[in-house]
Amino acid sequence: MSLQGKAAVVTGSTSGIGLALARTFAKEGANILINGFGDAAAIEKERAGIETDFKVACLYSPADMSKGAEVTAMVRMAEQAFGRVDILVNNAGIQHVAPIEEFPDDKWEAIIRINLLAAFYATKAVVPGMKSRGWGRIINTASAHALVASPFKSAYVAAKHGIAGLTKTVALEVAKDHITVNAICPGYVWTPLVEKQIPDTMKARGLTKEQVIADVLLEAQPTKEFVTVEQVAALALFLSSDAASSITGTMLSIDGGWTAH
Ligand code: NAD
Repeated sequence: MSLQGKAAVVTGSTSGIGLALARTFAKEGANILINGFGDAAAIEKERAGIETDFKVACLYSPADMSKGAEVTAMVRMAEQAFGRVDILVNNAGIQHVAPIEEFPDDKWEAIIRINLLAAFYATKAVVPGMKSRGWGRIINTASAHALVASPFKSAYVAAKHGIAGLTKTVALEVAKDHITVNAICPGYVWTPLVEKQIPDTMKARGLTKEQVIADVLLEAQPTKEFVTVEQVAALALFLSSDAASSITGTMLSIDGGWTAH
């Protein structure tokens, strides 16, 4: 499948799932805007690497997804550079785990801003251009937590359930414009974020690496295997194809059976 001549914006793409998505779209020929935080030299290496590896244009925007005006400016930057945004992936996300009565107000609000409000601002900004060209793909990285809850994750679960509502509503609004809007709902995905938790958990609980993975991290995931970033990227790529033009307004689980419970 070729995305030659198309342009994609992937939020939160300096690491993990977003980075794999950006590289996958670039591999198919799309120009890419990457976004996210991290070490400036490492980000520049990733950006330049995408350009040389895949012979596409790659821009970096440091926009903070917790600030609506910066989200909108990021979309305008891509439109100006590439003349279009055909694919938007709302992927940036953070997590904080605490019981409701102890949940810090600022963390709750930041999770809603980054994991939910940013998707609203970016979607609002890309839809007019997509409508004018009569083609678009909006893909929201949601989570199994868009469908089911876990204790102590009230902000994250609320934001991801909110993403489900946004996905369905916008899908209905743009259905006749050849724009699809879908949410990908991964279970546990092997990213640096998850990997870093393992040594500490081994020490704290006196468990082996295998026990931590199967009995702690993947307790809810029947396959007892992580989803990979490549699998998530492959699903996003399929959603971007013309073969997926009738898939819209859906929550697509990629969770090793988690939500079949
Ligand atoms: P990650 O921490 O590796 O990547 C998150 C990205 O978001 C990074 O590039 C980071 O810099 C960026 N980011 C964070 N705050 C930002 C802000 N204010 N402005 C701009 N960028 C910001 O995590 P990941 O596991 O790749 O997660 C990506 C998405 O996938 C998130 O929405 C997450 O909720 C979702 N998800 C992850 C898993 C998992 O198990 N890893 C499972 C389900 C859903």
